[in-house]
Amino acid sequence: MTFRVLILGGTTEARVLAERLAGDSRFETTISLAGRTANPISQPVPVRTGGFGGPVGLAQYLRDNGIDVLVDATHPFAANISRNAIAAASAAAIRLISVRRPQWQPEPGDKWRFHSDIGAAIKALGTAPRHVFVTLGRQELEPLCAAPQHFYLIRSVDPVEPPLAVPNAEYILHRGPFDTAAEEALLLKHRIDAIVAKNSGGEASRAKLVAARRLAIPVEMISRPPHEGDSPVATAEEAMRVLDHWAASTANRGE
Ligand code: NAP
Repeated sequence: MTFRVLILGGTTEARVLAERLAGDSRFETTISLAGRTANPISQPVPVRTGGFGGPVGLAQYLRDNGIDVLVDATHPFAANISRNAIAAASAAAIRLISVRRPQWQPEPGDKWRFHSDIGAAIKALGTAPRHVFVTLGRQELEPLCAAPQHFYLIRSVDPVEPPLAVPNAEYILHRGPFDTAAEEALLLKHRIDAIVAKNSGGEASRAKLVAARRLAIPVEMISRPPHEGDSPVATAEEAMRVLDHWAASTANRGE
């Protein structure tokens, strides 16, 4: 018996789970990417790319392709696709597994302030010019234009095109994972005195926060949107255990 799995991806967790499923003959797996990055990392299973056309389109895809389990392993800030996943899995009457890596928590020495959105984080930088390191998605940078007095060091996977309408910005391209010593050197080189980041969680981009703690640099941290739906699992390994259990119990029932 083969179970068809669709992973909504764009994260390390999605790729790690796909690696586990790729070598497992019980499962036939496809990973779905939004198509935001120009050169996405290669995946160990077939990939489909682009939006589905909302929850109705996703439900239709699930039915048309005989998907048995939907795994929402998208980024914790990708709230729209996660909401669509809940509605579509329910409409197609299939199992949904959500994967959410734990949030980062401040540790002694951290100087974090929490904000509900990017605009609020930028406002909190104040009116005096600062040197700000920004690690947001390139489509999320518009709020920086409301505070053109700062120097911005902007790191993204793909180029920010066109550049932001701020007079003092430098752009660097890097996909990560990042190393603490290199992050510390980068912060010192650009005389960074504030960081604006999303509370993405995970290991790949934690290094900047460790470097900020060492250098006593404040972090304006954007909080996650609330998770909707059932309790998520935290890792690809946990998702694999749920799939193992589900496949065994479904096969035993002869479904
Ligand atoms: P979003 O706001 O939740 O989604 C916007 C729309 O993009 C969705 O309604 C859907 O279009 C399409 N979409 C999103 N993820 C998709 C997927 N995996 N496969 C197919 N279509 C998808 O998402 P976002 O914040 O723009 O993030 C887009 C993708 O980048 C996600 O896959 C996410 O995992 C990844 N990512 C996001 C962040 C972040 O900070 N937001 C960071 C790293 C990676 P339709 O409604 O037409 O189906």
